[in-house]
Amino acid sequence: MRENAWNKYSKEDLIELEKLCDDYRDFLDNGKTERECVNITIDMAKKAGYTDINDLIKSGKKVEAGDKVYASFMGKSIVLFNIGSKPMEEGMNILGAHIDSPRLDIKQNPLYEEKELVYLDTHYYGGIKKYQWVTIPLAIHGVVVKTDGSVINVVIGEDENDPVVFISDLLVHLSQTQLEKKGAKVVEGEDLNIIIGNKPLMGEEKDAVKKNIIKLFEEKYGFSEDDFISAELEVVPAGKAKNAGIDSSMIMAYGHDDRVCAYTSLVAMLSQGKTDTTSCLLLVAKEEIGSVGATGMKSKFFENTLAEILNLMGIYSELTLRRTLANSKMLSSDVSAAYDPTYASVFEKKNSAYFSKGIVINKYTGSRGKSSSNDANAEYVGLVRKIFEENNISYQTAELGKVDQGGGGTIAYIMAVYGMNVIDSGVAVLNMHAPNEVVSKADVYEAMKAYVAFIKS
Ligand code: MN
Ligand code: MN
Repeated sequence: MRENAWNKYSKEDLIELEKLCDDYRDFLDNGKTERECVNITIDMAKKAGYTDINDLIKSGKKVEAGDKVYASFMGKSIVLFNIGSKPMEEGMNILGAHIDSPRLDIKQNPLYEEKELVYLDTHYYGGIKKYQWVTIPLAIHGVVVKTDGSVINVVIGEDENDPVVFISDLLVHLSQTQLEKKGAKVVEGEDLNIIIGNKPLMGEEKDAVKKNIIKLFEEKYGFSEDDFISAELEVVPAGKAKNAGIDSSMIMAYGHDDRVCAYTSLVAMLSQGKTDTTSCLLLVAKEEIGSVGATGMKSKFFENTLAEILNLMGIYSELTLRRTLANSKMLSSDVSAAYDPTYASVFEKKNSAYFSKGIVINKYTGSRGKSSSNDANAEYVGLVRKIFEENNISYQTAELGKVDQGGGGTIAYIMAVYGMNVIDSGVAVLNMHAPNEVVSKADVYEAMKAYVAFIKS
């Protein structure tokens, strides 16, 4: 059994750990969508000396060792490069994580009134237990794009003085039939309707409440009902991340999957000065729906950007690009299921991730007979172990639950297509994909230190 990481910390370690976790909670509070996470990342990267690749392409300025470059893709995914002194074709050290989280997306034609209650209809995004999303305070985050191309940023429900929105659930007194249903059917996808208003517009008779809401959207936010068609509005749990446990040893928040790996990877990346091996950070969207789409990991944006970087360095060729990718090594970071003693029957104790035992490495993920798994090479697992052990990083290995209990995937297998060494790693999470997930602060700290050690290696 591996040791509890809390046992090894000095006073100084604990101060550093709490500071990291305070900053992480801020990141969670301000980054509840992939777009918000990209915006924060750009701000932090600029402060650390990173330049927008588009500015470099425009000015024709050469990129060389010591330069720091970022590229954003449609404001939803982002990649950072810290160019090292070694030849690019010897490969890069890559950190990757995803910044989208399960949520409820507002439909393109969402607005309706029923018995003087006004609703927004939603379509859930990613894997959720639908019954967990009713009766809790919800916020709306996202963008509305007008036909003139202007973008309106929307955040409703986060400020102290802001109203929240919510989904109703049936009172227990009338739930006899509902409670006989299977968990997956207790609340169904089409029932995830957000209640947003109940006050009629004076002087109106038909749909007066809806008209009042439309007026409010127009006056307060500057968009019309038609503008929902070109909007991306995400409904997420309202409120701030909290320290959890009487001993404040944990953090409860929306979106640990996978912002806990994204943030700690980002901190590691930005803490780095000049380097020998080029390091790279990838924060991507759409992982929760299969990494598809232009901003998902299956898109060519990463490869295209690397080609641009090599071109700006004056060394682009198809072969250099292929070699740079194939010789790279990566920690593809995503959360692991933390062992939950209350639900012990779905876990296999010897191969489970435990709170406060450090960063988790998963040689393979997938489901059934390792289906769709990356299954990292043993030699590479050996190298990662060496890096962690030499740097006194607490680490553990795990699978996602018992064989044949289910499974899951990450972005590792997509990067493996280039022939690079890549392994899944990350932080153990309780209540994964619930509106509020929980992590151990010790694991947040160990993950950050593990990422620093990896990109330095
Ligand atoms: Mn994930
Ligand atoms: Mn997930």
